[in-house]
Amino acid sequence: MNKIIVKCKACKKDMKILNKKGKYRCPYCKEVYKLNSFNKFTLKIGRISKDFIKTLVDIKNTFKYRVNVAKYHFKNRKR
Ligand SMILES: [Zn+2]
Repeated sequence: MNKIIVKCKACKKDMKILNKKGKYRCPYCKEVYKLNSFNKFTLKIGRISKDFIKTLVDIKNTFKYRVNVAKYHFKNRKR
């Protein structure tokens, strides 16, 4: 069975739970965490957007690098 990591709403600690609908008790504060389809959906979206942001940063860095290289060549040509 797959396990997923969720944040406890009460103590904000990460806890590992089964990737299955149901109620889970937080091992730190004993708060009950309910996993339903909606929770699972938002967890998925969160993971996707993290990857998406990482890709955007990579693209930005690559672009910056290219601009710097272009500037460098431009300066050298001028001299
Ligand atoms: Zn907790």
